[in-house]
Amino acid sequence: MSDNKDFLRTIVEKDLKSGKYKEVITRFPPEPNGFPHIGHAKSICINFGIAKDYNGHCNLRMDDTNPTKEDTKYVEALKDAVQWLGFDWGENVHFTSDYFHKIYDYAITLIKMDKAYVDSINEEEMREFRGTVTEAGKRSKFAQRTIEENLDLFERMKNGEFKDGEHVLRAKIDMGAANMKLRDPLLYRIRHAHHFRAGNEWSIYPMYDFAHCLSDYIEGISHSICTLEFENNRDIYNWVLDTLELKAPRPYQHEFARLGINYTVMSKRKLLELVEGNQVSGWDDPRMPTIAGYKRRGYTPESILNFCDQIGIAKANSMVDVSQLEFCIRDDLNKKVPRVMCVLDPLKVTIENYEGTEDLSSPYYPHDVPKEGSRNIPFSKEIFIEREDFEENPPKGYFRLTPTQPVRLRHGFIITCKEVIKDANGEIIELKVEYHANSKSGSDTSGIKVKSAIQWVSSKEAIKSEVRVYDRLFKDEAPEGLEDINPDSLKVIKNALVEPAIVLDKPDERFQFERQGYFYADPIDYTDEKPVFNKIVGLKDSWGKKTNTDKPTTKTSPKQEAKKEQVVGSEVAMSDEQTALFDKYTNELGLNSEVANILARDKKLSSFYDESLKESNSPVALANMIVTEVARELKEKELNELKFNALQIAELVEMLEISTISSKIAKQVFEEMVKSGANPTQIVEDKGLVQISDPNIISPIIDEIITKNPDNVEKFKAGNKKLLGFFVGQVLKSTGGKANPQVVNQLVAQKLK
Ligand code: ATP
Ligand code: MG
Repeated sequence: MSDNKDFLRTIVEKDLKSGKYKEVITRFPPEPNGFPHIGHAKSICINFGIAKDYNGHCNLRMDDTNPTKEDTKYVEALKDAVQWLGFDWGENVHFTSDYFHKIYDYAITLIKMDKAYVDSINEEEMREFRGTVTEAGKRSKFAQRTIEENLDLFERMKNGEFKDGEHVLRAKIDMGAANMKLRDPLLYRIRHAHHFRAGNEWSIYPMYDFAHCLSDYIEGISHSICTLEFENNRDIYNWVLDTLELKAPRPYQHEFARLGINYTVMSKRKLLELVEGNQVSGWDDPRMPTIAGYKRRGYTPESILNFCDQIGIAKANSMVDVSQLEFCIRDDLNKKVPRVMCVLDPLKVTIENYEGTEDLSSPYYPHDVPKEGSRNIPFSKEIFIEREDFEENPPKGYFRLTPTQPVRLRHGFIITCKEVIKDANGEIIELKVEYHANSKSGSDTSGIKVKSAIQWVSSKEAIKSEVRVYDRLFKDEAPEGLEDINPDSLKVIKNALVEPAIVLDKPDERFQFERQGYFYADPIDYTDEKPVFNKIVGLKDSWGKKTNTDKPTTKTSPKQEAKKEQVVGSEVAMSDEQTALFDKYTNELGLNSEVANILARDKKLSSFYDESLKESNSPVALANMIVTEVARELKEKELNELKFNALQIAELVEMLEISTISSKIAKQVFEEMVKSGANPTQIVEDKGLVQISDPNIISPIIDEIITKNPDNVEKFKAGNKKLLGFFVGQVLKSTGGKANPQVVNQLVAQKLK
């Protein structure tokens, strides 16, 4: 069980203690209209997790009340996801459609109690009669139908005598209810559609609000856990069960916050768009945030469970950073998988003073992984190294092979470059080198100092493989749709070379390709003849790293690891100076270790950062701006070539921090600073991005948003004060981030009073 108890477990414990329920029975109730995503994983963890913790049971229930969108393939995907995450739903999967007859009978009971009626007004009237937040609705004249009439019509609806939309069954509750959901909600609608399980038996289908509570009751559910957007539906849930006077114990609904992740879209509708628009290869494309996608990519169930546990269960919606999920998988694999060598972009190297072949026996695991196992790495005269591990004109701080700087072949010998061979276009096609016979890894007596060790493979024995390098599917932090897709989310490398043991010895299906990242033998396309590997995740957060000229390597993010990289044959250990900076950034300024790592290792970035700090109260926001935006500029330029300076960036971040401008506008301003070097404040003024504080301008915008969101107004008035943020957010959005948030806040609060 998780260490700190969340509010749901607190409720469950209380209910068990008071004897309200003998056993905890939860359910995970997806609609089978798409593949489950990471948000569902969270719901699965909560529902199955709670049942497990309290020796109860969790049902897997397909909420299949909408015949037009559902399909068996989604049922299979849902089962697969639950199973893969390690949970057990017991004997059988439940389906709401199995209860169609019972639910129908409950509807008859309500009609007989005069608590439900057949309504026949059209959609337009229905909307009109519903009223608004401030005005009560009006009941349809059909509400006066007699019980006999209603029974007759409802049966004929069932028998298919009417067209879609001609009649509906509604609960008779209260057209003046403050909670608008209670204004005679629909219970059944006519739908002449084939149902994937019930076939053509039904011409009417129950609505969520009617079917869900009853399905929970029929299954003996104790705690019906759902996401916050169902908060207002809770009253109907209770009304149905109470009005029917069902035998105790009956279930109660509890809401928690939905999981949202940045750089990710997470609604089945949007995911379906990606699939149908061929933006991805299918629901299980390794870039998809679906369980099937993560599974295909090589994520482990443990890493997903860990992630769900880490983010916890909250009552307020929030956005989780995708790098937290990436951290969880990296952290899991770091403890488990063999380290092997793969060369993605091979450069031929001939060792002139070596003849014959030999096997270098080398462990699969570093010392801190408690696993045993080793393999032989064949070594010979002709090998391949990574093209980027040789530089003819190295930049300062380049630690790998150069014409004058030797390097170690990981698990092997030190080599020194003798000759660079180029083709007619001047491209390097081969290196001639010498090896140092007395420098063998583990018994090195050569006395030669090298600054790094690089991966390599022997040309004869290496196995050609396809490597699929995945990156985030969206380039925008809050993607809206197809326009935000990252065009470089997939790179297929056809001619990568892997050391033979990966294929012939197969110590695992997941590997760390040293200095490259974690990879997984694709469960579908891999064969020994034609190996295919998927990149699971990099060794560090590459979204911050794009900046470094020299690629730091190996597992990094936890602080200790950033410092001890040398252990795993990587190249860049931090200097004392860098370590001191890193410590200052993490301990004093509160930066996370990835950001601190990037800054500390890059002289240009850290000096820029230190300079900008002089004018800033926001070290964290500033650091983020520098490792993302500024770093991109510094990749190709020197500090003195930038048009903008450190203090201007501090100014920009400050504007962002006090919400004078939104982050979208900040990006826009930054682009302008790159081009013109103008002051951010000036740019904001010139371009009319300056905030709007005039109540006469803001007021009508607020009015419009209030009119458009009656449900939320309702909830706010009923006590959900958190919704103030929703309204403020909407106003900011509709003014392109230009409205002054404080003014908006005041006005919204006034108007909603
Ligand atoms: P989507 O909006 O992505 O289509 P949904 O809510 O319509 O999702 P359902 O199949 O109805 O999907 O969801 C099944 C269960 O999973 C519900 O209890 C729902 O609350 C929960 N769930 C769905 N998305 C999330 C999420 N992002 N975070 C947490 N729980 C979620
Ligand atoms: Mg839904």
